[in-house]
Amino acid sequence: MPNIAPFSTFVVGSLPRPQWVRDLIEDRKAGRISNADSENLLDDAVPSAIRMQERAGLDYVSDGEWRRESYVKVFADSVDGFESDLLAGGGSRFSTLPYPAVTSALKPNRSIAADEARFLKDHSTSKNIVAVPSPYTIARRMWDAHHSTTAYLTRGEFMDACIPIIRDELRSLVALGVEAIQLDDPWLALLVDPDYRGRENITDVDHEIEMSVRSVNEVTEGLDDSFISVHLCHAHFARRHSTRGSYELIIEALGHMNVDRFAIELATPDAGGLEALKDFPSDKILGLGAIDHTDKNVETPELVIQRVENAMQYVPAERITLNPDCGFAPSSANPMDLDEAYLKLSAMCQAANILKDRFA
Ligand SMILES: [Zn+2]
Repeated sequence: MPNIAPFSTFVVGSLPRPQWVRDLIEDRKAGRISNADSENLLDDAVPSAIRMQERAGLDYVSDGEWRRESYVKVFADSVDGFESDLLAGGGSRFSTLPYPAVTSALKPNRSIAADEARFLKDHSTSKNIVAVPSPYTIARRMWDAHHSTTAYLTRGEFMDACIPIIRDELRSLVALGVEAIQLDDPWLALLVDPDYRGRENITDVDHEIEMSVRSVNEVTEGLDDSFISVHLCHAHFARRHSTRGSYELIIEALGHMNVDRFAIELATPDAGGLEALKDFPSDKILGLGAIDHTDKNVETPELVIQRVENAMQYVPAERITLNPDCGFAPSSANPMDLDEAYLKLSAMCQAANILKDRFA
């Protein structure tokens, strides 16, 4: 396990984008502005996302993922083989945003996260966290039985094709010296909700869990010296979660993943309480979701400390780090408030400073 200071503070990745940045992402998608011109504008915008996190007091900052239309679509935007907007909603209960589907053989056309990471490193004074979607979540979201079978006969075949691409990307991030690398695998967490399994006709949940574990272990192969997290949540859009339920069904499987830390959504009541942490693996660091991004009320530091102390009934202080439940806006279309995110992150960091002093 890497030596990570207790109560270190992280973001999960995405931050709400100012409206002009949201418009820019839409204009880029519609072809009203070139990729090169939009990148130049984003080069001006992204440093403010970085500064905001540094001012809030975070130990590990991201670039807010402001360049991405979404945390998982970034894969389809960086790899040829997809047709955009073929799928409606993609398993989410509330978002009707269309999704791409794979329709031909995958071929990377640019870096997924390494260029973003290089810019982040050049423009921040803190340690960095960079997230990449996990192959399991990519496969659940962007393979479809109607559109994808001519390219990849099964979802599993498609996932296998994603693995070397994500593995190469992780190695690029390691080579750049990114201090914290994260795999986003919310679609593993969604499995805990029987309604979701019913909607998706998932009958062999153990097989699904095994696919997620295998994909994480195959992309992280050979990266034992790097600090790697997996993020799990119930997915959200417009402050509503796609699924709900506690994590008993998947918590033991986390012990089989060759990663160091799990950043888990736990502050929201939709996550079903902390009791599942009784089986949290004893050799992993907990990234405690301590901020509920679906609640407009800004947490006080005292409330955050209370959430941490509740978690300490199950996981010792030396293995607890803090993060919000999820990225604040995993999709650029997600209507969230940037100032609210700043205030929530500030409260989390104030709480962490008190805890660091108390347990030092
Ligand atoms: Zn999330």
